[in-house]
Amino acid sequence: MRALHVLRGRGLSVHVIEAGDDVGGTWYFNRYPGARVDIESLEYSYAFDEDLQQEWEWPERYAAQPDVLRYLQHVADRLDLRRDITFGRRAESFVYDEDSALWTATTDHGEQWTCRYLVPAVGFLSTAYLPRIPGIDSFGGRLVHTGQWPHEGVDVAGERVAIVGTGATGVQLIPHLARDAASLTVLQRSPMWTVPLQNIPMPEEYQRRIKAQYPELRRRELEESFAGNFLVDFDLRPSETRKAFDVSAQEREAEYDFRWESGGLCFYMSFADLLFDQAANDTLRDYLARRVREIVRDPATADLLIPTDHPPLTKRLCCDNGYFEAFNQENVRLVDTKTDPIAEITPTGVRLESGAEHDVDVLVFATGFDAGTGSLTRLNIVGRDGRTLAEHWSGGARTHLGLMSDGFPNLFLLDGPLSPAAFFSPPLLSDYQSQLVARIIERLDADGTRAIEPDPDAVTTWMGHVDDICAMTLLPKANSWWLGANIPGKPRQFLYYLGGFPEYRRRCELVLEGGFEEYLRDRHSAAAL
Ligand code: NAP
Repeated sequence: MRALHVLRGRGLSVHVIEAGDDVGGTWYFNRYPGARVDIESLEYSYAFDEDLQQEWEWPERYAAQPDVLRYLQHVADRLDLRRDITFGRRAESFVYDEDSALWTATTDHGEQWTCRYLVPAVGFLSTAYLPRIPGIDSFGGRLVHTGQWPHEGVDVAGERVAIVGTGATGVQLIPHLARDAASLTVLQRSPMWTVPLQNIPMPEEYQRRIKAQYPELRRRELEESFAGNFLVDFDLRPSETRKAFDVSAQEREAEYDFRWESGGLCFYMSFADLLFDQAANDTLRDYLARRVREIVRDPATADLLIPTDHPPLTKRLCCDNGYFEAFNQENVRLVDTKTDPIAEITPTGVRLESGAEHDVDVLVFATGFDAGTGSLTRLNIVGRDGRTLAEHWSGGARTHLGLMSDGFPNLFLLDGPLSPAAFFSPPLLSDYQSQLVARIIERLDADGTRAIEPDPDAVTTWMGHVDDICAMTLLPKANSWWLGANIPGKPRQFLYYLGGFPEYRRRCELVLEGGFEEYLRDRHSAAAL
């Protein structure tokens, strides 16, 4: 949406192909009960239009999916975006022609568009992953994936429900299923670290106070913050710069209590060494494990809900609304499928390797996404020499700055792999990257260059740089979707840039200032940049 607005605003002719029947992307498709942001609404919103951010009223501290969608629909109306979007179409292929240096896009309805620049804005968590469990097609009840939740909803009242998947999505959905279903069986393979979101109706005074400071706070998000956040808590307390063992055990406890009460992802802003030093991280592990045991009444269930396979924060922290409390309900049962894996789906439910059967009416898969690369490699993008992006990336994503891939001229990725996408505010990153693409296109036009792509060596160097930063942290200890480890057979590669947005932006600006030194220009063009 932002790219359309920016590029159209620079006088380019832009057309968007969209699979959904309306705008919203993630917030259009992920309609399961409990879906909501875990970044504060006052931040998880566009910053480019001061009137828009002043006028829009967020009803809750953390907006629910219907409110985020309503906001995006309002933005589409306000900017008159829909006139340049074809809805309800899947892009089937994008083929590059080297003679004309043009891309041709074809949809599943046979329409074609020819363009000079191709900008996939398909998101990094958009291709739902449904595991190929034997017998999955034989299930006689209702089977749904959370990423393709039916618009009319799923009525589970009085039904026996089972859910596979306890990541951020499962953690949000489970309390709702527990409340509404006759029985809920949670088939857990790996527990996740989760903290309370502490969502509340938006305090009017708080919204007024933030809005009064918006320009300065947004500046700080872009220029000073790693992840694009200013709302560490209601008092705008800054990130902690001390290390975990710089303080006494009592002070550490007080710091963690403060984060727990503040809610959301703010544990990432706690002690500076939590992601670097195992002993420091262990202090947080002990704290969070204790919290789980305080909430969950049955000690054996509490034990199962405490992760032992990864340190806290090394997978994206989950934020919940009554997740652990749900396991105190009589109608909720936790089943450990790590020790007794799912063997098959039967017409009536799920059978485990031990032979235990769980018969259900509704089977929910909250099994996540083929993140980062999955949506792009499925687009059937054919670049130079007839090579597809899927082939080119079969050993891992190859991008420079997450923005362009070698062999694919004039293909600009938004939120692409090896960009800071998973570690920076989505509305702000889309704003910066859209403007960057517009600026690059203006430069190419002005200099008479038809096409540009990064030098393969520059791409390889960037990939190494992304890996090197990751290796300095504890993040490789977790089998996360950040590493592609959630999809069987996917190359293990850290998919996001961990250097922080200010450094990312500095490096992008260097490319422009340096006249695209690390880039190859179109071979047919005599013009130099
Ligand atoms: P996820 O974190 O990848 O979790 C998938 C779950 O499915 C895991 O528990 C996984 O278990 C399980 N699973 C996958 N394949 C399985 C199999 N074959 N058998 C049994 N279990 C299987 O996906 P997600 O929960 O959708 O979250 C993905 C990301 O989306 C989040 O990290 C977050 O960035 C974003 N998100 C954000 C929010 C929000 O609050 N704003 C909400 C939802 C999602 P294993 O761990 O054992 O593989």
